[in-house]
Amino acid sequence: MSKKQLGLNTICTHIGELEDKQFQGAVSPLYMATSYAYEGVEQKRYPRYFNTPNQEALAKKVSALEHGEAALIFGSGMAAVSTSLMAFLHKGDHVVFQNTLYGGTSNLVTEEFEKFGIEFSFTKDSKTDSFEAEIKKNTKVIYIETPSNPLLTLTDVSAVANLAKKHGLVSMIDNTFASPVNQNPMDLGIDVVIHSATKYMGGHSDISAGTAIASEAHIDKIFQLAKNFGGSLSDFTVWMLERSLKTLGLRVKAQNENALALAEFLEGQDGIAKVYYPGLSSHPDYELAKSQMKGFGGMLSFELQEGLDYKLFQKKLNLIKPSMSLAGVESTILLPAVTSHGLLTPEERTAQGIKDGLMRFSVGIEEKEDLMEDLKQALEKVRG
Ligand SMILES: *Cc1c(COP(=O)(O)O)cnc(C)c1O
Repeated sequence: MSKKQLGLNTICTHIGELEDKQFQGAVSPLYMATSYAYEGVEQKRYPRYFNTPNQEALAKKVSALEHGEAALIFGSGMAAVSTSLMAFLHKGDHVVFQNTLYGGTSNLVTEEFEKFGIEFSFTKDSKTDSFEAEIKKNTKVIYIETPSNPLLTLTDVSAVANLAKKHGLVSMIDNTFASPVNQNPMDLGIDVVIHSATKYMGGHSDISAGTAIASEAHIDKIFQLAKNFGGSLSDFTVWMLERSLKTLGLRVKAQNENALALAEFLEGQDGIAKVYYPGLSSHPDYELAKSQMKGFGGMLSFELQEGLDYKLFQKKLNLIKPSMSLAGVESTILLPAVTSHGLLTPEERTAQGIKDGLMRFSVGIEEKEDLMEDLKQALEKVRG
C-alpha cells in the first residue's frame, strides 16, 4: 500500500516511525548522536545534513501529510521560509509576494532582500490577476499564504499554481494557517509547501520548528542551501514533533468544529460588528474555501461594534488568553494592531483592512460551550 492510500490519522500515527530493534518499544527511539560512522556507509549522517535517523523519519511523515515526495525539517518556520526562497532566487531575480504576509516573512523580504540584489513586488490584493500583473521578465518565484493573517482572506491556490506553470515559475505557499489537515496545495499544483511547525503541527505551544515539502528535485535544491545555512532542528525536538503530529488530525478537526460553531455564535451576538471566517457563508471567499479546503481551520477574526472597549473585552475573558502565538490546543486571542501588525503605519493597516479593535482568535480544543460562555460574559461586561 502506498503512502497516499493511507488515511490522514493513519499517516499521523504511523508513517515514518522508526523500529526499536533493540527493545521493541512502542515508539520511535530517539537518536541524539551528532557523530556517526563514516567507514563503510554511503551516506554520511550529521544533523546539519538533515539526515539523522529521527529527521529522516519525521520528514517521511510530513511529506506524506502534504502528498509530497520529500521534506526537510527546520529549526523554525522562518528557517524553512528563508531557505526555501533563497534556494530559488539569485542576484537579479524577482519574486512576487502576496500583499498579506506573515509579519516575519514580510520583514525578511523588506529588510534583507535588497542586500542580496533580489527584487520583489507585493500584489495589491489576493486576486489571481493581481499576481499576474506583477510578473516581470526576471520573475522566478510566486509566493502565497492562504488563509491569510489576520483577515482570513483566500487566494485561489490552483489558479496561482497554473499561473506559475504558464510563466515557468516556482510556486510556494505558506500553508501554516490551514495545516495539512485542511489544505494540500501540492494536489492543487503548488511546487513547494512551507509550514511553521511551531503552530498546528506542534500544536502545544512548546515546539519551534518548520518544514518544507516538495518533489525530490525541489527538496534537493533546497537542501543544497539548507546544509550551508544550517537551520536544522535538534533531534530531541524532532522526536517531540513526531509525537505531536500523531494527534494532528484529531486536534485540527476539533479546532475546525469549534471555530465554525464560534464564528456562527459570534455573528449572532449583540455587540459584534463583523466576523471573518472562511466557513461562514457571509465570507466573500466562502465558495473558494469550499472548493480548495477540506475544513475551514481554527483561526477566525472579529470586530466589536464601534465604541465598545475592545481592550476591556480582552481583559474580561477568563478562559481565552491574550497571547502572541497561535494554533495551540488552548484558545488564545490577540489584537493585530498592537502586536503582529504593530510595526505597520496606521495607514498601512487601514489599507489592509485591519482596524484597531480587530481581534484574531485562535480557537483551541476546549468544549465549545465553555468558550461561548466566556465570550458572552465578556461581551456583556463591555456592553454595560
Ligand atoms: C509563525 C508563522 C511563521 C514563522 O514561523 P516561526 O516558527 O515563528 O519561525 C510563518 N508563517 C506563518 C503563517 C506563521 O504563523
